[in-house]
Amino acid sequence: MSDQSKIEWTDATWNPVRGCTKVSPGCKHCYAEVFAERFRGVAGHAYEQGFDLRLVPEKLTQPLTWREPRMIFVNSMSDLFQDGVPDKYIAAVVEVMAAADWHTFQVLTKRSKRMCELLRSRLRHAASLQNVWWGVSVEDRKHGFPRIKDLTSTPAEVRFLSIEPLLEDLGVVPLAGIDWVILGGESGAGARAMEESWALSIRDQCRIARVPFFFKQWGGMNKAKQGRLLCGRTYDEFPCFNSQTAPPDNERRRLLNTFLGVQMQWNQNGGHSLSKPRTNCR
Ligand code: SF4
Repeated sequence: MSDQSKIEWTDATWNPVRGCTKVSPGCKHCYAEVFAERFRGVAGHAYEQGFDLRLVPEKLTQPLTWREPRMIFVNSMSDLFQDGVPDKYIAAVVEVMAAADWHTFQVLTKRSKRMCELLRSRLRHAASLQNVWWGVSVEDRKHGFPRIKDLTSTPAEVRFLSIEPLLEDLGVVPLAGIDWVILGGESGAGARAMEESWALSIRDQCRIARVPFFFKQWGGMNKAKQGRLLCGRTYDEFPCFNSQTAPPDNERRRLLNTFLGVQMQWNQNGGHSLSKPRTNCR
């Protein structure tokens, strides 16, 4: 996790959970897995346990320590809604996001069913938070479109799609109720190519539906070389949002102390390694 990020559509990343398992074709070349597995067995490293699922309660309060308002990608190295993450822990993450309302949090998942269920029930209050954007990944029609359906069935204030890596022509994308679209091709070794016509179709649909459109990258083996231009220009659009100023330092410290108690409870529970057998990419 970092208070600065190279990911084009965010400012910082926050990982109160680490590790994940693969659920769909978009996971095939998961950058988080590649990164985490490089450090498996390295004593003392944050990813000593590789990409095994692990709660990281000592990071729960991290956004409260950041005074400058930021856009924060939640769990860039994991997926908050995995089966192995307890509802209570997800609730603790939500409470931190609600308290740190000078930041904007971007929560992205492939486990849309669980996110949807929680936002419609015990975390209903979280759906109405203006500073939390809820999103789903869409790599193809088969796996992505049911996620869009789940997302739009939630009462979330701000809903977004991360169409990355785009693996096929999506045809008509159901954009009703969607507030932001990020689009990108896959990068790294073995990257699957994205055709220009697929990207242009989504851009044009966003234009017609008046949905802000962010073109992240073409991807490929050398993503810097492929660049971020689509038809000769960049698209760096975001939803409208009210940026808040941080509270005075004494108020921020008070919040931090409140949540340090919650953090300590999770730390005292001990045994946060939640390793599960790996599943293969379908
Ligand atoms: S859901 Fe995301 S973090 Fe988890 S394996 Fe797939 S791509 Fe990686």
